[in-house]
Amino acid sequence: MMHSLRLRLSVISVTLLGGLLLLTMALTYWMVQLTWQARVDEILQNTATRLLHVITDAAAPGNRAFLELATSTRADVLVQLVSPQGEVLFASSNAFSRAPFYSGRDILLGIHYVTVKMDMAPDLRVLSVPVSRQGRPTVVLQVAMLVDVAQEMQRSLILWLGGMILLLLVAAFFLFSSVIRRALRPLDNLARMALTINRADDLSLRIPIYGYDDDEVGQVISAFNTTLERLETLFTSQQRFLADVSHELRTPLTVIKGSVGLMRRSQAFDPELLDSIEAEADRLTRMVESLLLLAKAEAGKLTLNRRTVDLDAILLDTMAAMQVLAQDRVQLVLTDLAPVQAEVDADRLKQVLVNLISNAIKYTPDGGQIFIGLQVEGKTVRLTVRDTGPGIPEADLPHIFDRFYRAEKSRTRRKEAGGFGLGLSIAYWIVRAHGGTIEVSSAEGEGATFVVVLPLRPSEDD
Ligand code: ADP
Repeated sequence: MMHSLRLRLSVISVTLLGGLLLLTMALTYWMVQLTWQARVDEILQNTATRLLHVITDAAAPGNRAFLELATSTRADVLVQLVSPQGEVLFASSNAFSRAPFYSGRDILLGIHYVTVKMDMAPDLRVLSVPVSRQGRPTVVLQVAMLVDVAQEMQRSLILWLGGMILLLLVAAFFLFSSVIRRALRPLDNLARMALTINRADDLSLRIPIYGYDDDEVGQVISAFNTTLERLETLFTSQQRFLADVSHELRTPLTVIKGSVGLMRRSQAFDPELLDSIEAEADRLTRMVESLLLLAKAEAGKLTLNRRTVDLDAILLDTMAAMQVLAQDRVQLVLTDLAPVQAEVDADRLKQVLVNLISNAIKYTPDGGQIFIGLQVEGKTVRLTVRDTGPGIPEADLPHIFDRFYRAEKSRTRRKEAGGFGLGLSIAYWIVRAHGGTIEVSSAEGEGATFVVVLPLRPSEDD
């Protein structure tokens, strides 16, 4: 419970609210005090002004007008006349004390307000006005009022306020904690859903978004779902990969096992069977090598041995070698050949050319043609391999560079052609490692065109 986010948020909110309310309470206390003090001071001042009018410079106590006025003031206003030495010369009948209300020396200096605390009696607000003759104070007029009612009001107001604030804070705590609980409920659901996915081992499940999808919680859920999606893709592609590899391994292994069995039964050395064993072993080796290369490339660890080479020479070499494979079945035609030097990994680039041209030869029917070109375009070089074969169905085009992908037709029709569906993936990764692009365009029945664009020099960030 101590670690509950809800509890922490509630406590923080209530503490902040409490602080603000206390501040308001303090301000109220101060404002009330200022208000009643201003009112009391005004009354004291009015009385003092009226009395000062009738104080003559003759000794005040004998002054009738003063006496009359002093005894007819408001019942709650007390009047005293005090000599500079501090004796009380006159006190109105309601003045309960025979001592001056206030006897600090500062009363002789000028008009002076003070609140006097008295033992056993309520506080007094006192106004002292010195009356001077020929520059010397002769008497001090003191007008005072008891302020117990105002103070009592002020105190009880604060008690009330304090009590109400306390109740308010308790109510606020429950209110906040229920609001926060509601706001956090989607997170609870998120956690529960995540656990369910764990338990069910089912990456295809997604967490539904409650409420808004662009608020904070919605964003967390979206991010989580994106992660799930990515994991699911990765996971399925790993599974498919394993299935593909196992599938590809089965045929050669069956052939090898069958051939060995045949030889054992016939107890004879059969060069044909040995050839087929060797061919299958070679196929397996090629596949494993291709897979290793792809694994490296996909992990971004494909190292290129770049040197400046003549691309045109490499192209011509490869074409000559491929012509042997094509025999007279299909014709290799060179359309453009720009003399160009580029900084590339010659062996790997040759592999790209071999893969593209051998595909073209493999899939083009007898009597077809394959057009090969090399052009320079600014700081890039463009390699084209176009054939007059059956082309690639549109549905297959987006997947053609995936590993183990073979278009459905070629899968059934030319199994003996012996591809694993790795050639184009390898070409793709090699071109990519060079910082170039490879693209295919084709329409069924109209042949396929592969275009590789490579930078002549590696760019800075390669
Ligand atoms: P494979 O070893 O099967 O040739 P690739 O990765 O080289 O594998 O090619 C993948 C698939 O692309 C092939 O199975 C084939 O269906 C299709 N393909 C590639 N090149 C061509 C082409 N020139 N003409 C028609 N289809 C092609």
